[in-house]
Amino acid sequence: MRNFLFLKKPVFILLSSIFFLGCSGISSVPFETPVDTKDKTIQYQSKKTYEISDLDVYASNKFPGARLNGIEKLNDSTVKVIIHPENKPINPSPYYAFELWSTNSKEIYVAFQYPEKVKHRYRPKIREENNEWRQIDTNQFYRIDSLFTVKVSLDQKPKILAAQELANSKDVKDWYTNLGNMNKYVHIKKYGSSKLGRDLNLLDIYKGEKESKPILVLLTRQHPPEITGYLAYQSFLETILKENEITERFLDEYRVLAFPLLNPDGVDLGHWRHNAGGVDLNRDWSKYNQPEIRKTVKYIDEQVKKYNTTVDLAIDFHSTYEDVFYTNKQRKGTQLPNFIKNWFDALEKEIPEYVVNEAAGNSKKPVSKGWFLKKYNSVGITYEIGDQTSRDRIDEIGRISALEMMKLLTD
Ligand SMILES: [Zn+2]
Repeated sequence: MRNFLFLKKPVFILLSSIFFLGCSGISSVPFETPVDTKDKTIQYQSKKTYEISDLDVYASNKFPGARLNGIEKLNDSTVKVIIHPENKPINPSPYYAFELWSTNSKEIYVAFQYPEKVKHRYRPKIREENNEWRQIDTNQFYRIDSLFTVKVSLDQKPKILAAQELANSKDVKDWYTNLGNMNKYVHIKKYGSSKLGRDLNLLDIYKGEKESKPILVLLTRQHPPEITGYLAYQSFLETILKENEITERFLDEYRVLAFPLLNPDGVDLGHWRHNAGGVDLNRDWSKYNQPEIRKTVKYIDEQVKKYNTTVDLAIDFHSTYEDVFYTNKQRKGTQLPNFIKNWFDALEKEIPEYVVNEAAGNSKKPVSKGWFLKKYNSVGITYEIGDQTSRDRIDEIGRISALEMMKLLTD
């Protein structure tokens, strides 16, 4: 090792970057608080139809996005559904989705049993026969044996009872394929495969030349159940793809790389949070141990180099208990040092009765917003929507935030 000391600085830098390149072909980015994102074992659900014949109640998890690990009779009018995560440790946000039916019309109580210390998070929704989702009214909520319980009416047509509206990999693909068919600037491209071989697709949105055009990156569904973030993402992206004066001007200046489903395995397996490697993907933006992140960063980095450009802004859509923007404290030296302030001012001005809830931090853990900052001096933002934010309001916030972003970036 002694000889190492005598190496000239450029040689040292060259050697150390080769060392860090690894198999992804892209150097790792260090974070203050590293997280181990090597593969962990996951427990698969047994996909089956459950039968509680003396109550005449049936349940099934045989569809993509389902989560049901068991069902038992609790008393003469109540069934207990058992919900487990894909592995542990995990954020205690229990996701569930299953079909329920009965051969006769009846009302039944459904009690939710989660692992110890896990609290109920998502208010149940029902998918009706017309495929519309309906939130169950809070006056149908109970506590039975200290378990969160909901009363539902069943008949012979299976209804889906779920934590949030379902959007599995097929639903997402149908959505963006349709968008691609309607807009001439959208180029849908497969850029890799997930751990279990599902397609990783992106929408490459550009007008004319890609050379030197700054990039806007839009990400979502690293965490499978975070549907409200995905709903905002849809509204945001659809606004960019409306053909009008603002969007034309925006796409004259910017190229958009939109990643509509970063964790397709986790979504279709009905995971609470992780991918099929049992890992929180939004902690893997340092070492890229998981293919979903490795392929994504590799693709972005290749584009930046090939077209001699920058990533100015990266927005990653998620859900939590309330609407909140997680931002990086560091603004100076970024591609758009005034963007966050100006954007938030514009949102408060343009969205009726809206107050921006911002939490600025230092991205100590390897999350996407920190990666974009460290790697490209981008403005990285985690755009969180509350679980309970009304769907109309999400649409409005998504639409106006896209509009105001485009105005600021073309000012
Ligand atoms: Zn999340």
